[in-house]
Amino acid sequence: MEKKAFVTKEMIEEIVKTYPTPFHIYDEKGIRENAKKLKEAFAWNKGYKEFFAVKATPNPFLINILRDYGCGTDCSSMTELMLSHAMDIPGEDIMFSSNDTPAEEFAYAAKIGATINLDDFTHIQFLEDTIGYLPKTLSCRYNPGGYFSIANSIMDNPGDAKYGFTTEQMFEGYKIMKAKGVENFGIHAFLASNTVTNDYYPTLAKQLFELAVKLKEETGAHITFINLSGGVGVPYRPDQEPNDIMVIGEGVRKVYEEVLVPAGMGDVKIYTELGRFMLAPYGHLVTKVIHEKHTHKEYLGVDACAVNLMRPAMYGAYHHITVLGKENQPCDHKYDVTGSLCENNDKFAIDRMLPKVEIGDYIAIHEAGAHGYSMGYNYNGKLKSAELLLKEDGSVQLIRRAETPKDYFATFDQFDIYKKLGF
Ligand SMILES: *Cc1c(COP(=O)(O)O)cnc(C)c1O
Repeated sequence: MEKKAFVTKEMIEEIVKTYPTPFHIYDEKGIRENAKKLKEAFAWNKGYKEFFAVKATPNPFLINILRDYGCGTDCSSMTELMLSHAMDIPGEDIMFSSNDTPAEEFAYAAKIGATINLDDFTHIQFLEDTIGYLPKTLSCRYNPGGYFSIANSIMDNPGDAKYGFTTEQMFEGYKIMKAKGVENFGIHAFLASNTVTNDYYPTLAKQLFELAVKLKEETGAHITFINLSGGVGVPYRPDQEPNDIMVIGEGVRKVYEEVLVPAGMGDVKIYTELGRFMLAPYGHLVTKVIHEKHTHKEYLGVDACAVNLMRPAMYGAYHHITVLGKENQPCDHKYDVTGSLCENNDKFAIDRMLPKVEIGDYIAIHEAGAHGYSMGYNYNGKLKSAELLLKEDGSVQLIRRAETPKDYFATFDQFDIYKKLGF
């Protein structure tokens, strides 16, 4: 599929008069259309809820857009819980899917009424020791081990993943929790990441539904929800076929009718914790070409770096690039597109065919709306950039300002750098 940027050169030339590059910009219209479709895809399930994975894009303005479509939040840390609470999101709309969890995070999650999803068998006791009781509703993360395959092709390797309870631990854990007064149970699993196939959720759902029936039969536990978590991906490459969420929802419905309904479990709620699927395609990292370098290769130096978008440096991930204003020119020049970190992996693209680029050109890096800004760091003392929202009416709103040197130095309480710099 051809990848088109949702911004034009003319729009960016206007925006940079107020907000200089680099910045992340998000497309409200795209976000809304996608969230609406997800809701429709699972409308057959009465209790369906998407808990947006906050870690993907922890911005309250964007999360509030998703709230319009009934989404809650899925949190993995104290600050994500705090953000959800500060947004007045009620406890029942907050999932806490964490691992290696510090005691104070369990305590805070319980205090704000979030649903706790335990990552490990030993956390049953740890949670009880921490808060003095077990909540009436608890969920456990499941990891069957081995490989996760769809039609003989291996999608991921849960056997090598640190997350979740084994099958035996699920049964044992449910028995213990039930004996300790837990009344409502959830099952959660995240077995493959960034899947670009309509079969992932239905395949996972079948596995979890069959487990749920067995758990109910053997332990008598009342299973109220099954959380399919994240993992529905996006096509980063132009040659990939995007997921069809309507087909995915229908696929889950089919196995629900096959497995859960005959077992008298037709009231089980389906939950999801999508992050990437909700926002990745609706965010660009916009950056300006500031240097051209001709050595052993042809380099374009831009004013963003891996601090703004880490996936290419970290995973060698492909992110599509549009040179704004040159959308229709032939891609007949080969470049490495680099940032300024003192790390040779700070490249947004390697050997990428692009139109002939000039200094001053603006480029849009695609699929930067999730796991983009949020993965950023401050290496080389680089500052995190701003986040902007392109609203449906065409106006642009600043939804997070860029970091300043003052922010960067803010934690030097013992060294009065502010005074020296005149802040
Ligand atoms: C990261 C994560 C998600 C979201 O994953 P995506 O790939 O963004 O869909 C959901 N749930 C948990 C527990 C996660 O760790």
